[in-house]
Amino acid sequence: MSRVLLIGWDGADWRILDPMLDQGALPNLQALIDRGHRSVLKSTIPTHSWAAWPSFMTGVDPADHGVYDILETVPGTHKQYPVTYKSIKERTFLADLSAAGKEAVYADLPLTFPPPDIKGKLIAGGVLPKGPAFTWPHDLAGRLDKAGVPWPINGMSWTTYRNKPDAYLAEALDVTAKRIRATEWMMDNTDWDFLMSVWVSVDRTQHCLSNYIGPDHPDYPTLSKTPRYQKVVDVFRQLDDALGSFVSKADEDDTILFISDHGFQSCSRAVHMDHLLAKLGYLKFDVSNVIYGPLQWGPMRAVARKAYDLLGLHGKVSLKQPVSWKNTKAYTSIRSTGEGVSINLAGREPDGIVDPGDFERVRDEVMDALASFTDPDTGKTPVKAIYKREEIFKGRHADAAPDILMEPAEQYSLTHAKTAIEAADWLAGDHRIDGVIVAAGPNVSEFTEPPLLIDMAPTILAALDGPASVEHTGRVLHEVVGSEANVRAGEAAGTAQVSEDETTVTDTEADEMEEHLRGLGYLE
Ligand SMILES: [Zn+2]
Repeated sequence: MSRVLLIGWDGADWRILDPMLDQGALPNLQALIDRGHRSVLKSTIPTHSWAAWPSFMTGVDPADHGVYDILETVPGTHKQYPVTYKSIKERTFLADLSAAGKEAVYADLPLTFPPPDIKGKLIAGGVLPKGPAFTWPHDLAGRLDKAGVPWPINGMSWTTYRNKPDAYLAEALDVTAKRIRATEWMMDNTDWDFLMSVWVSVDRTQHCLSNYIGPDHPDYPTLSKTPRYQKVVDVFRQLDDALGSFVSKADEDDTILFISDHGFQSCSRAVHMDHLLAKLGYLKFDVSNVIYGPLQWGPMRAVARKAYDLLGLHGKVSLKQPVSWKNTKAYTSIRSTGEGVSINLAGREPDGIVDPGDFERVRDEVMDALASFTDPDTGKTPVKAIYKREEIFKGRHADAAPDILMEPAEQYSLTHAKTAIEAADWLAGDHRIDGVIVAAGPNVSEFTEPPLLIDMAPTILAALDGPASVEHTGRVLHEVVGSEANVRAGEAAGTAQVSEDETTVTDTEADEMEEHLRGLGYLE
């Protein structure tokens, strides 16, 4: 039986890759495309990695796995914690492959902390606390250290390197080089059936430096001619070299997949959704915003942190949304991207003020106000599309979804601003739905229509003849596995996804994860 090798470039988009391919900067990716077929791969709504990768892992939409944002709310409270692997409320293909006895390797797959108990090796991806084990088996990190190929966690924080692109690029190349060596070691030291690695330097770099490589960025014509342009392309060249190395370690009849979890568009303007709701008259900030507000920004943050520690607030209320709930009708409920807004509904929210009888009217009003808001500096609308929850989400966990969902217009991010609307500061790019896929292997044929990210789990299981315990919303991509292969419906094997001794994150761990999320600009 052929094996499956999957390389994920988080956030890769043909808009950015094609000019590099045309210049011959990505010869190994070009060779893979020449051997197989390429297409757009459609992501999820919302289009961020924390909703997308669980959709990849489960083959179902966020409404069925329940992860909509990097934070999840403790029901009946305003307390929020960073999401973890345990937040995924559907069984993943990792568990199914493991139950089928397949040996697998996962490197840096986002949202795999705490590391699940699987057959094979796993290095948790996403945002990690510094203390607890981030690998499966737990001693894998130590074995990598001993082998001289230690795995560096986290890193590449934009706010640390805000307006210091050369220092950022040096760290991105350094961290990634170490991860490539560790991944090669795992490839060489595992008898794998399935091996996947995700590379986040593409996403991180495109967020802060799309103005060099995104042809639709207004500064691209100038910046792409500066010496730094080649340094930004080096981030992609490094991963292209690694792609060549990984593919060379695979067999001729292995199936190779190259994907991204979402695409990217350039940004020159940014919105802060809570501030916009305040400007539109639907939200009032709490006085605490005066203290919490500056945390995100540069040197102020360290000072504020210290004050925070002295006041004993650290890790307790730090994820608090600085909103005066008794004066607020609508608030941002996907805080990482600003793509979701909810109504402060009485009976559902801890301090809800909107009567259930007024829900539809208030929601329509908020939707009209958001959709018709124009940027005073450009005359453009930042919101490209707006939906009611039930138009997008129908699954078992749809109740937890935002009441209103939005897609940002071109050149706009709905997050990462300090005020309602402003020129983007360090941000040069943000997510869009159209990601990428390349497939090569013995059964691969041309894609007839763009596949979906949720097609990957059934496709991987079909390729490896692993029975599925989940009714996938996505389909088996016969363009990848051939017309014969299908997913066998399997009994749920009943194995716990995370071993029993691992509980949900502690306040301290949540705090460390949150610190890193701040570094990535996702929290204020
Ligand atoms: Zn991103």
